[in-house]
Amino acid sequence: MMPSVQAPERRLVLASGNAGKLAELSALLTPLGCFVQPQSDFGVIEAEEPHPTFVENALVKARNASAQTGLPALADDSGLCVGALGGAPGVRSARFAPAAASGREAQDAANNALLLERLDGEARREAEFVCVVVALRSADDPEPLIAQGRLAGRIGHAAAGLRGFGYDPLFVLPDGRTLAQCDAAEKNRISHRGQALQALLPMLRAAWNFGAVGG
Ligand code: IMP
Repeated sequence: MMPSVQAPERRLVLASGNAGKLAELSALLTPLGCFVQPQSDFGVIEAEEPHPTFVENALVKARNASAQTGLPALADDSGLCVGALGGAPGVRSARFAPAAASGREAQDAANNALLLERLDGEARREAEFVCVVVALRSADDPEPLIAQGRLAGRIGHAAAGLRGFGYDPLFVLPDGRTLAQCDAAEKNRISHRGQALQALLPMLRAAWNFGAVGG
């Protein structure tokens, strides 16, 4: 048989049903020959995220996905931390506004509307996106791989841009554009998730032998 010259494909279950995150993480993991499959493909019942820290919630999500699929799992817990709001919505970013009846886009719109309302008349608009990624080989992996990334910006006064997801249309970069006005590759280069993944990649290579030819 001909020896393989490509890194073997590795499957990771993504402990999220967020299509925006799946697209971003898949693109970032491609160099390692990783195939990321959302937990919804396996009918995984989503974990509660009760903790006050990103890292704890990411761990809970990764464990839950790995336990229900038997596969290595990758979880990201992320959020928007706004200085004038004492760091809120933070770990509550996905559910900042009361639950919208009609899915993720409606929830994102409600969250953005509430954010603008809370910052109405507020001059301090600085904010940070934070992301913690956790990778587990199995649900009881005693050595999770953990990496963190952040992106600084400010909250605009009106939504702009059609790309991305969540708070992207309100998150203004130092050059004046919102994250929703960046294309996917550019967002991945600078974003909190991109930074966290860039920090995780060498750990996956070193500890899990990912990306190694014939590994
Ligand atoms: P969780 O990590 O699934 O608990 O939710 C993270 C939430 O933070 C998302 O639902 C968004 O509201 C927000 N968020 C995280 N990352 C981003 C991003 O890259 N752009 C916009 N919003 C984000």
